[in-house]
Amino acid sequence: MRKMYTAMLRKAQNDPTLMKMFKKIHKEKGGIVGENGEFLMDLNPFKDFHKSLVEAHKGCGPNCIHLQRFYAKIGYYPFW
Ligand SMILES: [Zn+2]
Repeated sequence: MRKMYTAMLRKAQNDPTLMKMFKKIHKEKGGIVGENGEFLMDLNPFKDFHKSLVEAHKGCGPNCIHLQRFYAKIGYYPFW
């Protein structure tokens, strides 16, 4: 999970859209976002978000395209 988070964080530094998306998630989970654009999202809100995403796509099977798209978006490529 930390590996995924790190990959996402690295990609978000150069990806304003991704940054915006995760800031939004972070706020929804009760986190604080830095004033000057620094990424203050910690691992737990991201964990929660990922968990609910996996839950929501349980019915899609192990090769769920939505999760794969999500991983691609954040720059993380897990082994299937
Ligand atoms: Zn799905």
